Amino acid sequence: MSQWSISRNGGSSDAMRTPRQAGETACLQNKQLRLLKENIEQFFTKFVEEGKATVRLKEPAVDVCLSKANASNLKSFLAAVRLAHRGTDVEALPLSVLVPAKTSEVEKPKTKMIITSRRDYPLTKNFPYSLEHLQASYCKLARVDMRMLCLKKLRKLDLSHNHIKKLPETIGDLVSLQELNLHNNHLESFCVALCNSTLQKSLQFLDLSQNKIKALPVQFCQLQELIHLKLDDNELIRLPFKMGQLSQLRFLSAARNKLPFLPSDFRNLSLEKLDLFGNPFEQPNPLVPSIQLKIPLTLLESAARATVNYRIPYGRHLLPSHLCEDLEVAKTCQCGNACLSCFIQTTVTMNLHYVAHTVVLVDNMGGTEAPIVCYFCSLTCYSQFLDRYLQSNR
Ligand SMILES: [Zn+2]
Repeated sequence: MSQWSISRNGGSSDAMRTPRQAGETACLQNKQLRLLKENIEQFFTKFVEEGKATVRLKEPAVDVCLSKANASNLKSFLAAVRLAHRGTDVEALPLSVLVPAKTSEVEKPKTKMIITSRRDYPLTKNFPYSLEHLQASYCKLARVDMRMLCLKKLRKLDLSHNHIKKLPETIGDLVSLQELNLHNNHLESFCVALCNSTLQKSLQFLDLSQNKIKALPVQFCQLQELIHLKLDDNELIRLPFKMGQLSQLRFLSAARNKLPFLPSDFRNLSLEKLDLFGNPFEQPNPLVPSIQLKIPLTLLESAARATVNYRIPYGRHLLPSHLCEDLEVAKTCQCGNACLSCFIQTTVTMNLHYVAHTVVLVDNMGGTEAPIVCYFCSLTCYSQFLDRYLQSNR
């Protein structure tokens, strides 16, 4: 009876370790033995008497871990492999004692690992390369462990209940990552690099609740696959300006933050469930607008409006990057025209049922309404809005 498994090279020098990837059969045929010629990087045979050994191949870069083998069979097997490595004629190799392993004897690669205490956290051993789901909670981690960022098959990463202050940009290199849980950490921001990473194509679930985040970057809305977003119990003073672009988003919660109002684009969302309970929402008063209008418009404002309205292509090769950034957050007047830094701003009341099927009450008074920002490109547009508003509230 013997067991064997294959794992990727590198990391622990310990001969025996957790198996990572298993093959279909343990039977090495002569043909395969030919492939061993000068292809072995190292043998780990310290525990051969206990029926364990590891053969590290050069190509493919894997470790073949053998365990629970009969010690003398294992020794003759290793001798044969050594000869094959040196290029000895395979016909002459003593392989007759080898019996193919049964499927049940081949260990399955480990895909899930749940760690819920500091004591169980692996400090010296690497994480199995085959992991798809890794949870490391209550481990007092102050930063994301770089060893986790090599796990290219990872789909679900749960680092909730730790002390993480900052996320490394390289989390964006986890190409398969669909779920990221960072509930109850010490995060103060969510970096732009992550919004621009491959997470744009994979990330569907993001839990940033119970952190210290004050604002999310404009680029956050490039995480276009997001379905589930939890932002509760942070210090958010605003939601991302282009929130409405998250077209896949169905579950949004941002309860107990410091939101005074919602971005104008919020009305483009189409949610199943929305929870904005416990925010210090302002009482909307359309009659007291904030006016940032220069008449006549500055040349910059006129050019910027024309660029957006006529969809003139621009980019960092044509314009200074701060202008590009400004253009990316151009506001839209109710007439459909763009405005950049000259506009009239006010807030109006929106019933949240307009964007979500199920709405958690925003306060203890039973309300489901929240203030949403409106922009106007000119006095004409604002006065038209005001006429309609006053008529409907007569
Ligand atoms: Zn207008």
